[in-house]
Amino acid sequence: MMKKVQTPVGGKLVDRLLRGDAKEKAIQEAKNLPALIIDREIAIQLEMIATGVLSPHEGFVGKADYQSILDRGRLADGTPWTLPPTFSPVGAENEKVASGLQKGEKVALREKDGTLIAIFHFKERFKQDKEERAQKLFGTKDKAHPGVDNIYRNMGEELLAGPIDLVDRQNWGPFEKYRIPPAETWKLFETLKWKTVVAFQTANPIHRGHEYLQKCALEILDGLFINPIVETTRRAYFRNEFRLKAYEAAIDNYYPKDRVVLAALRVTMNYAGPKEAILHALIRRNFGCTHFIVGRDHAGFRDFYDPYASQHIFDDYDPEELGIAPLFFQESFFCTRCGNMASSKTCPHGREFQISMSGTGIQDIIRYGYVPPKEIMRPEVTQIASQGIQPKGVGLDGKALKGPGDTVKGLFPFYVSHYRLGGYPRKEKIDPAKMTLHDLETALLDARENASRIYEDIYDEFTHFFDVSRNVTAKQKAEALAEAIRMQEGLVKTLEEKIQIAEETVKDPFMYQDKEEAKRELEVAKRILSEIGKPLPHPDALKERVWNPFDYTDYSI
Ligand SMILES: [Zn+2]
Repeated sequence: MMKKVQTPVGGKLVDRLLRGDAKEKAIQEAKNLPALIIDREIAIQLEMIATGVLSPHEGFVGKADYQSILDRGRLADGTPWTLPPTFSPVGAENEKVASGLQKGEKVALREKDGTLIAIFHFKERFKQDKEERAQKLFGTKDKAHPGVDNIYRNMGEELLAGPIDLVDRQNWGPFEKYRIPPAETWKLFETLKWKTVVAFQTANPIHRGHEYLQKCALEILDGLFINPIVETTRRAYFRNEFRLKAYEAAIDNYYPKDRVVLAALRVTMNYAGPKEAILHALIRRNFGCTHFIVGRDHAGFRDFYDPYASQHIFDDYDPEELGIAPLFFQESFFCTRCGNMASSKTCPHGREFQISMSGTGIQDIIRYGYVPPKEIMRPEVTQIASQGIQPKGVGLDGKALKGPGDTVKGLFPFYVSHYRLGGYPRKEKIDPAKMTLHDLETALLDARENASRIYEDIYDEFTHFFDVSRNVTAKQKAEALAEAIRMQEGLVKTLEEKIQIAEETVKDPFMYQDKEEAKRELEVAKRILSEIGKPLPHPDALKERVWNPFDYTDYSI
C-alpha cells in the first residue's frame, strides 16, 4: 500500500512566531497598544497556536467556527475540530478594555507582571452560553468536572476572536530541553526516514501497559513519538524533573534508540474524554505523526465518560479527513499464565492470573515503600519514579492517598477473590475496605514469587513428560514420582489383605476397623494411586481423603 504524504491539519503548519525585525517592531508598537492581561492557560494556548500545534488555527475562533465546533465537532468549513481555542478576558479592567475594542485593532496580551506575550488582532466579539458550552463539549454541566469548572470559573461571557502573533516562546523550565516544536519534528522524522510515526500521549511515568501498547504499534510502524504532556492544571504526582527522566530510563534500557523520539508537550488539558481524544490525534498530526494510540478512557475524568467513548467517537469521522489513524487498545494486564502482557482481546485466562496496570496503584505502592512487581513497572523506571513521587510517603494515619485495600484491588485483583495468584478461589471474598498493609504485603510477595513461576511450572510439567531425549530432564522428579507410585501400590496391597481379615462388626472400633471401614480406606488409597502424577484434583475432591466415623468429641482424651 502506498502511503500518501502526511500533511498538517488544513494543509500547512501555522507559524505565528515573530522573529527579528518583526519582533522588535511589535515590542515597540505594543507600548502604545491597549493591553489585556492573560492567565497561564491562555499563555499556553498562544504558544500552541503560534508554533502550529493547533494548525489550522491562527488565533482564537470566531462565532461561526465556535458554534460549528460545539454543534458538530467541526470548523465551519467542515474540518474536524472538537475543542475551540477561545479567548474571554475576565476582570473589571480587562472587560473595560475588551468592550472598547474596534474591529481590526491590535491589542498587547500581557501577563500579570506586564510581560508582553503576544499581539492580538481583534476581529470579532460574541457571547457564549456557558451551559451550552459545558453540555456540548463535556456532556455535563456538573462543576465537579474540571473542564466545566474552568468555564464557570475562568471564562467571561464574551469571547474575542482574531489571529495572534507570539512575541517570544516561553521558557519551559525543566522541560525546556525536551521541547521539540512541530516544525522540527517534521524534519526529524524525515531525517530518521520514518514514513509512519505513532504518537503516544502520557502524563505519568511509563508502566508495562504503556510499553506494551507502544511496542505493539512499533512492530508494524517505523517510529514512536512519545509525547508526555507537562504543566497541566491537574496535580502532578511525580515531580517534573523525574517524569521525563523515568521515560528516559525506560527508553535507554528497553527501546532501540533509533526508533523513539521523546518530546514534552505543554498543553491545556480539558479532560473532555472523547472530544479531547480527537483533538489530541489532530495535534499529533500537526507534529507529523501518522498514527495515534488511544487507550482506555483517554483524557477522561473519574467516571464521566464510558471508558471506550474516546475510541467510539472516531466513528463519527472519515479516516481520510482526520488524516491520522487511531490505534485502539483495550486495558492491558500482565497474564501470569500466558507469561505475557495481554488484554481481553488476546488472553483467555481468568482474573486470578492477572496483575493489573493502575497508575494510582503504582503511585501508592511506592508511597507505602515497596517496589512494584517487575511485571508492572521496569525496575529502572521505579528507581527514578520512587524518588520523584509526591507525597513521598504515607500520612500520619499510616495510609497513602488510598487505603492498602484500594492499592491491592488496583494492582492485584486476584487477591480479593483468590488465595494466590493463579490459585483457588477463597470461600469468601475479602472486602478491600477491610484490608490492611499485611494484605498488600501478602499480595505483593505472592506476585513477586509466583508471577514468573506459574508459566515456568507449567512448562516444567510439559518438559517432564514430553522430552523424548531425557538428558535435559530433571531425573529426581521422575524418580520421586516412580517411588510415590511404588509405595502407594504397596499400601493398596496391604489394605486389600486387611479387608480379607476384617470382621463384619468390631468391638473396639478405635483399635480395629470393620469390613466397611476397611473398604473405604482401600477405595481412597486406590483413588490416590490413580491420581499420582496426574493434574491436581480440585481441593473439593481432596475432602474425600478425610473423614471421621465418630463424633469428633469422641476422639478427645
Ligand atoms: Zn493469559
